[in-house]
Amino acid sequence: MIKLSVVVPCFNEEDVVEFFDARMRQVLDTLQVDYEICYVDDGSSDGTLGKLREIATRHPGHTQYASFSRNFGKEAAMLAGLRKAAGDAVVIMDADLQHPPELLGRMLDLYHQGHDQVIARRTREGDKKIRSALSRTYYRAVNRWVDVEIMDGVGDFRLLSRPAVDALLSLPEYNRFSKGLFSWIGFDAVTFDYKNAAREGGETKWKFSSLVNYGMDGLISFNNRPLRIALWLGMVLTGLAALYVVWVVVNALTQGVTSPGYVTLVAIIVGLGGVQMMMLGLIGEYIGRIYYETKRRPHFLVKETHRSPARSAVERTRLASTEREH
Ligand code: UDP
Ligand code: MG
Repeated sequence: MIKLSVVVPCFNEEDVVEFFDARMRQVLDTLQVDYEICYVDDGSSDGTLGKLREIATRHPGHTQYASFSRNFGKEAAMLAGLRKAAGDAVVIMDADLQHPPELLGRMLDLYHQGHDQVIARRTREGDKKIRSALSRTYYRAVNRWVDVEIMDGVGDFRLLSRPAVDALLSLPEYNRFSKGLFSWIGFDAVTFDYKNAAREGGETKWKFSSLVNYGMDGLISFNNRPLRIALWLGMVLTGLAALYVVWVVVNALTQGVTSPGYVTLVAIIVGLGGVQMMMLGLIGEYIGRIYYETKRRPHFLVKETHRSPARSAVERTRLASTEREH
């Protein structure tokens, strides 16, 4: 019997995490697997951690949890979960039940057929029209620029075999863009579609601006091809400038000196200034990444796990026992 680990990043999910846990275990009990669920509390400010403690005491041996000292982001939470997971196969799932647990059986079947990555792709049915149009355009652009293939509708919901998990864990980078990393490691991947479900409770942590930032990360994380734009643009503009000079000289020689347009001049200065700023920002992005990588900071800090309870709890029992002694 194989061992299956389910990794669940949770950030302020007190409304749904118990609901998730119950439904998940119902499904897991019907499958022919030995299982564990690894919850990672990503520095929630609500009662999520308390709920996780309860779940862990209710199902000892089948539950792990780790709680971060603050919010480090979903990428860090997934990494922590993957490090903790001991299974032969690992599934990454959201806590909000947008990833239906019922699909696990199908994923396991595909895993048993020898696939190392079983990817669930959500259909965009029920999404807001402009949102899905925007994402589609984005993915088309990204795939033109980036070496790895990033599919529309594919998120972090997937099953990974042990070799695939180990491959992911061997990538030490600080700036983690999982969608790209999953694709970068390769292995035998298979994709199937599922219908997108609405959140069961709580609310999404994505604002539009964070989506845009995430999008930029995707463009910049995988190679330095965007820097090439700067080179190309520079060459094209230099060429145009040279042509313009030739034209002005020829004009002056054939028709006498003419005074050039003021508006044209301003437009060129401002336009070029904008292009230069953009390119400088782009270079800055790469330097920023180098800066973060060279610090070699850990991806996350853990303050509590199912094995080492919170200091406050330990303190309380210690105090209680010293009181008894007196
Ligand atoms: N999440 C997390 N850390 C964060 C933000 C989100 O661990 O900083 C978790 C969240 O608890 C959920 C999953 O990542 O389990 C997906 O988040 P969400 O549902 O907000 O994203 P959406 O489904 O809207 O893309
Ligand atoms: Mg969600």
